[in-house]
Amino acid sequence: MTQTITVFRGDGIGPEITDAVLTILQEAKADLAFEIFDVGEAVYHKTGFFIPENGLESFRQNKILLKSPITTPIGKGFRSLNVTLRNQFDLWANIRPAKSNPCLDTLYKNIDIVTFRENTEDLYIGEEKKIDEDTVIAIKKITRTASQRIIRAAFEYCRRHHRKKCTCVHKANILKQTDGLFLSLFQEIAKDYPEIQANDLIVDNTCMQLVMHPQQFDVMVMPNLYGDIISDLTSGLIGGLGLLPSCNKGDEYAMYEAVHGSAPDIAGKGIANPTALLLSSCMMLDDIGQIKTAKTIRTALDQVFSKKQALTPDLGGQASTKEFVEAILQEIRR
Ligand code: NAD
Repeated sequence: MTQTITVFRGDGIGPEITDAVLTILQEAKADLAFEIFDVGEAVYHKTGFFIPENGLESFRQNKILLKSPITTPIGKGFRSLNVTLRNQFDLWANIRPAKSNPCLDTLYKNIDIVTFRENTEDLYIGEEKKIDEDTVIAIKKITRTASQRIIRAAFEYCRRHHRKKCTCVHKANILKQTDGLFLSLFQEIAKDYPEIQANDLIVDNTCMQLVMHPQQFDVMVMPNLYGDIISDLTSGLIGGLGLLPSCNKGDEYAMYEAVHGSAPDIAGKGIANPTALLLSSCMMLDDIGQIKTAKTIRTALDQVFSKKQALTPDLGGQASTKEFVEAILQEIRR
């Protein structure tokens, strides 16, 4: 049965990469119908809403959202729309698979790391307070329920996908109560998965280890802020932000998006790499049972990467987004 999905075109490079991905999905004959909405800053200036109510209603109905990046103005007393969406739809697990592609020249080979980032709390609850003119504080919130569900999801993923190791990333040596709770729950839950090697690492050491010996990592689970930072780091290991897909999942809803932002520095230049959003759409196709279509797209992508003739500038090439997409379309048609 045709699956209807909601699509948010986003800001900056968002519309360019969304249109690219929809063209490829159609060529690959994905059995999808699209309800497409413009969202973000441009829409706000026209309508007074960052996300139109009918866009939210569409997601409520369809339960699946393919979302492009949205710009978050810095320091303007305005909460990130991404964080709002994750909370409003209780998308508590942010899953970010970083896998090096042998068809691309990357800094590291044989990387296959999946980050499970808790998506609803930690410093992202946005509770900041001015104490006096020179002092501000932010609240870091860690709860038993939110930690347990993300940690269990990571172990369940290991079990389902035959992954050998699960690493908890934390700073419990300093944040003894908040990260201490997260770590103790990890150690408790690990006992239910004796076949999976469980270890923990302090976040600063993790950064060094990821740069020096990234192949030691398999599945990683961590609170929200570390997940945000570490997953960008893992994207660097495999060739950059243009390549890293993600899924934000809850019990009822799922939102698929690139890990990167709206890339204002290259917006409108026609050179954005749509791969991260395309691979996010492949994660979506896998989840809704259109596995063959996802495979067709991934194979076409690998062919384009191997030939190295139509790579976008972030991958060392000179192709435009359009030329890159055209090369993928040609591979799909073969
Ligand atoms: P960014 O991820 O947009 O860009 C970082 C660097 O990576 C830039 O040099 C950019 O050109 C490059 N890059 C990113 N995606 C690329 C792609 N597909 N192809 C080629 N190059 C790419 O990070 P930023 O500049 O810190 O953030 C810009 C805006 O995006 C901010 O407002 C931020 O809040 C927002 N943001 C949104 C999301 C989201 O919607 N999920 C995620 C992260 C950042």
